[in-house]
Amino acid sequence: MAKALHVQAVLFKPACATDGALAQDNPATSVCKASDFRAMAYSINDEQVRERRALEWLSRYGKDCPFNEIEMIRSNVSVWLGTSNTPKVHQTVKELYLSKKPLPSSLEISKNSNTAPVIQPSGSIKTDTKADPKAANETTSTAPKKIKKLPNKVDEKIAASKEFALRESEIAQCLPDELVTWNDGDKDGKMLSPKMLYVYDHQGAPSYVSEDAVFSVLQQAASAWDQCGGQNAVMLKRDVFEDNGSAKILVQWNDKEKLGAIGLANITKKTLTLSPDAFVNLRKNNTNRNWVETLQMVVSHEVGHFQGLIAHSKRCVDVLSYYSNDAGEKCTIRGKGVMPQTFEYRALLPTACDIQRCRIANGF
Ligand SMILES: [Zn+2]
Repeated sequence: MAKALHVQAVLFKPACATDGALAQDNPATSVCKASDFRAMAYSINDEQVRERRALEWLSRYGKDCPFNEIEMIRSNVSVWLGTSNTPKVHQTVKELYLSKKPLPSSLEISKNSNTAPVIQPSGSIKTDTKADPKAANETTSTAPKKIKKLPNKVDEKIAASKEFALRESEIAQCLPDELVTWNDGDKDGKMLSPKMLYVYDHQGAPSYVSEDAVFSVLQQAASAWDQCGGQNAVMLKRDVFEDNGSAKILVQWNDKEKLGAIGLANITKKTLTLSPDAFVNLRKNNTNRNWVETLQMVVSHEVGHFQGLIAHSKRCVDVLSYYSNDAGEKCTIRGKGVMPQTFEYRALLPTACDIQRCRIANGF
């Protein structure tokens, strides 16, 4: 029943990863800090004053805002401002965000790639007893339109390959006959809520995984899935102290459910569980694999389940895909394409088809 995914070991580095050096760019010179914006928002109770201050703050600091800061503000503004997140504030933040958004560049892919670990897919479960072991695995990805973080350099040979170009176009564009899902009984539904808040608890994470990295990955996924039409925000568990009407989804690490999955979305319990054992093993067995990318792909996949995408895509590149079933049937690549052996084909973030299916499922 488990649909094991074939994961190839390829990986690139997201351009704006907040773990590591990139996030440390000129910390002293930047006055636009998302944490300052949040502190301002939380310090003012009056709704109108809060809106005015927010707009003042954005007009004062927004122009010099580093991308990662404005990105964080954009992902969280609805939570931080609550009812003061008026259309005007929303629009201001959006414009700043778009003005700072880096242009796409190429991908960076690590050299090796022969070892193809099999990861038990993650899945969603609607009830507490039904485990859905379809998995998410990663891929390199350029993102579809509107999705921010794009990978950097790519191994030149791979980047120049036809397979790679095909993958990129499959990510960016969804052709009319391409919305195909596995006929395995799972049916799409509506998103959990129009406003969803992913509450991250770092407790139990593998020691090599930093809280910042997971937070950033969650924000990427949340923001990318906003294209479906819901609002997805992310907060650290310790920072959550008020209810703003969002459905809260606890993002946690544990192996209690032992479902053989690397990640699991439980729609009923509103939990997104990541397996520490799976990530530890992944790293042990695949030293060349970029775990941030694996995490991104798994998180994007699971967050997709909360958007209403319960079925899995049969299109290999979709982040909601799985690659093959027990009967040996395989996922598909446009034009009868063959799964490349040198890089992971599945996207890290929702593709054009993932978003389209999501919008249809939700009646948008
Ligand atoms: Zn799944």
